[in-house]
Amino acid sequence: MKIALYPGSFDPVTYGHLDIIKRASQMFDKVIVAVMCNSAKTPLFTLDERVKMITDAVKDLDNVFIESFDGLLINYCKENNIHIVIRGLRAITDFEYELQIAQTNRELSHNEVDTVFLTTNLKYSYLSSSVVKEIASYNGDITPCVPDFVADELYKKYGYLEKNSR
Ligand code: ADP
Repeated sequence: MKIALYPGSFDPVTYGHLDIIKRASQMFDKVIVAVMCNSAKTPLFTLDERVKMITDAVKDLDNVFIESFDGLLINYCKENNIHIVIRGLRAITDFEYELQIAQTNRELSHNEVDTVFLTTNLKYSYLSSSVVKEIASYNGDITPCVPDFVADELYKKYGYLEKNSR
């Protein structure tokens, strides 16, 4: 069985991530989306909130499973017998960073873990979680960027929607 791991912060999940997840789910038998407690970033959403939003967003994809993890990616891969990591590439600016991480993971795993890159859907090439948060923080329209229920959660975080209005 071909299992692929798609790791990320997903703070929050966007249509760009969801497009990658959907395409990966058609290429592999099983896709595990791993939501990271990334020590280098201070997330807007808690780990539980991020996991819940992705779980809701992919509920129609039978072979996609959501997990959270903390620590080294290659340890997670080893413990779960995973040899393929998926990452999305938006622009050349992603490439340098992603190449370094991919090579590090391959080296640290003694060539057991390879990274497969999926290029962004052009429709979503401008999209990042940071951009979406920036727009939402000014009460801008983020409906082209994230599912409606994620947009509501963002507006709530920034105080534009009552906490219990949904
Ligand atoms: P990280 O903090 O690890 O970069 P993100 O949640 O920001 O995690 O992104 C996870 C993965 O999704 C990364 O490989 C990133 O390049 C990819 N990604 C993010 N936005 C898009 C997009 N609009 N199109 C394609 N891939 C994307």
